[in-house]
Amino acid sequence: MANSWRHERWDSLRLLTPNWQSRLPGYPYCGSDPDGFLTMPEVVEHISAFAAATSAPVRTHTTVTSVTRIDAGYQVMTDSGEIRCRTVVIASGGANIARVPGVSSAVPKSIECLTPFEYHNPDRLPPGGVLIVGASATGVQLAHEILRSGRPVTLCVGEHVRLPRTYRGRDVLWWMENSGVWNERYDEIDDLERARGLPSPQLVGTPERATLDLNVLREAGVEVVGRLAAIRDGCALFSGGLANQFALADLKMGRLLDTFDHWASAMAQVEADPPERFEATRIPPSPRLSLNLRRGEIRSIVWATGFRPDYRWLNVSVVSRKGELRHEGGAVVGAPGMYAIGLPVLRRRKSTFILGAEDDARDIVGSLLSYLAQGT
Ligand SMILES: Cc1cc2nc3c(=O)[nH]c(=O)nc-3n(C[C@H](O)[C@H](O)[C@H](O)COP(=O)(O)OP(=O)(O)OC[C@H]3O[C@@H](n4cnc5c(N)ncnc54)[C@H](O)[C@@H]3O)c2cc1C
Repeated sequence: MANSWRHERWDSLRLLTPNWQSRLPGYPYCGSDPDGFLTMPEVVEHISAFAAATSAPVRTHTTVTSVTRIDAGYQVMTDSGEIRCRTVVIASGGANIARVPGVSSAVPKSIECLTPFEYHNPDRLPPGGVLIVGASATGVQLAHEILRSGRPVTLCVGEHVRLPRTYRGRDVLWWMENSGVWNERYDEIDDLERARGLPSPQLVGTPERATLDLNVLREAGVEVVGRLAAIRDGCALFSGGLANQFALADLKMGRLLDTFDHWASAMAQVEADPPERFEATRIPPSPRLSLNLRRGEIRSIVWATGFRPDYRWLNVSVVSRKGELRHEGGAVVGAPGMYAIGLPVLRRRKSTFILGAEDDARDIVGSLLSYLAQGT
């Protein structure tokens, strides 16, 4: 139960979605701190309480080892027996394996490499400098934590999504939800593939509701460099396109804030402070373009380069060469009666967040019931 939150997250992690957004189908957050951010033990408790309240027949400690198509539907093999069913909903998550770029194979052996699954807290790292590759939610959070442990941190920044924690006195995710941005449906989005591949936003959940962007990290002492392009002869080479990456992220954040403002002015009763605009991301005077990994300055690398799903147990040919499930709004293409939930922009922009489950589950269950009704 709540396995990924229990075993696959670092110790200090809190949700980046405020507590009032941790609602599950028919099960709102009822605690005393709606604007706070759940710690991992609290998330486990919340999900376990939901399971108990719904009395769902959950089989814990059971791994699905294969799913195969049979005449009447699907044969699901688990490590505790076989299940035959007419329909299957794949809810195995989109973040089972850490995505590590191919350049990792050229890292000198003296450097310890970790994925976010292996990182629990800074004590897990050797003393000395840390290179963090990737500046989305995971990368910026780990950069901040590792820096505070006294280790010098260099952060490689590629494409990223910049967001302030609060906007006009409200949580930025309040705006995402209420302005309708998060509810945009998959069939209304122009470039769905791109939307599904977008990095997670640079956000952290803290009691102070603090913004954690690149300006904050640089002020704290993190060295910011461009995207890790290659490692040659033990030397890490960084892209020179940092200024462009910053400009793009700032532009997109500005456009999003414009969307919020337009929505607020079109609605009569939105209670919020006046519009704000934020300082552009400051460009380091001369960002370094290379770093010799053999000199001892860097002792460990954290690959904060994203996650991907793991479908090695799925014996039905519905997975693309990129390793993604082929589906149309959660109905798996080429596999009647097979559905998915919990993947990025599955049916709406919010699909991969906890609060996305409610609307998506209603839609998916509707399709599933129609499918079953057709066959009777
Ligand atoms: C680092 C990180 C931080 C996140 N922070 C937030 C946040 O702040 N707010 C938010 O709303 N969302 C957050 N998310 C997203 C969130 O974890 C999930 O994507 C979302 O809750 C969807 O839940 P899920 O149950 O579909 O997937 P998951 O939570 O990934 O659960 C899938 C489950 O399926 C199990 N599974 C996989 N394969 C098998 C198999 N073969 N047999 C049996 N079981 C299997 C996995 O072990 C896991 O328990 C975060 C994700 C990550 C990776």
